[in-house]
Amino acid sequence: MSVRPGFLAPIAAPLTAVLAAFALAACQPAGTSATAPADAGVVNVYSARHYDADAEVFKAFTKATGIRVQTIEAQGDQLIERLKAEADASPADVILTVDAGNLWRLKDQGLLKPVRSSVLDAAIPANLRDPDSQWYGFSKRARVIVYAKGRIDPASVATYDSLAAPQLKGRVCMRTSTSVYNLSLMAARIERYGAGAALTWAKGVTANFARDPQGNDIEQIKAVAAGLCDATLVNHYYLIRMQASADPAERAAAERVGLVFPDQAGPGAHVNVSGAGVAKYAPNEANAVKLLEFLVSAQAQGDFAKLNEEFPVVANAEVGPELKALGAFKEDDTPLAVYGERQAEAQKLYDEAGWR
Ligand code: FE
Repeated sequence: MSVRPGFLAPIAAPLTAVLAAFALAACQPAGTSATAPADAGVVNVYSARHYDADAEVFKAFTKATGIRVQTIEAQGDQLIERLKAEADASPADVILTVDAGNLWRLKDQGLLKPVRSSVLDAAIPANLRDPDSQWYGFSKRARVIVYAKGRIDPASVATYDSLAAPQLKGRVCMRTSTSVYNLSLMAARIERYGAGAALTWAKGVTANFARDPQGNDIEQIKAVAAGLCDATLVNHYYLIRMQASADPAERAAAERVGLVFPDQAGPGAHVNVSGAGVAKYAPNEANAVKLLEFLVSAQAQGDFAKLNEEFPVVANAEVGPELKALGAFKEDDTPLAVYGERQAEAQKLYDEAGWR
């Protein structure tokens, strides 16, 4: 976790110190742009994203609106604990996080409030936002199959089902089932195929494990590249980032693997979002809504998505060359709200399958 100059105190600081720092910061101009409109107040963003791109987007927002952006960064679970501890004294206006499963958890714990915005409703496809308007997806990621070039014919790993097929026995690496990325995928499978078929799939994949589930998405890719296994599931942007890494070893590893968007002849690849909502007790609610609406502008969509190698949610936004090179792909259109609603069931089935 990093705290940038002008940002609020890190999550680990005692609440009193944080609030003191916040009060102090709130009195001082953030010194953003001299060309910005007159001071139009502030918006406090609690973010579970740790991307420089977000800072760029916030800078552009301040320039366009005169509203200063102050951020606190933390992991998703820490953000939830903090919001609960602060309750109605929380300075949080906007909560920004990854994965619809996390957005659902925020809503489920009563930490968000509905947003009334025709701009957001018009710009963001209905399946990528909460039906009760408590959270919105602002950029998309696909959960893709990464395979070992030379050892795997990509045509043989064209579907999520292929990861459960006997020919991959002992050749599949996965992160743990408690990862929200895997929970969301499982929830989508339960929704589409039913619990019985979803369990059968999870059992098949578990039977194919080359090792016990461990590590994050990048470590799955590295394991495939190193020959520990031949296929895995990751969010697409991890491979794109490795391809562009400053570390030659990461670039070399990325060279040894290929990427498949699964289920292109079926329902399409599983997609998820980075998203945001307005905090239940937002002291600057109007500014919070303005920030969310800014995130669907063509420029913000370009930056927000492009700099993180995620896909825009708005159709006409520009993507970077790396994403363009991946080409168009078919997306599963399951409503993302399902990922949260079926999260507990998903974990239960993974547990039953022995996917720890
Ligand atoms: Fe991620």
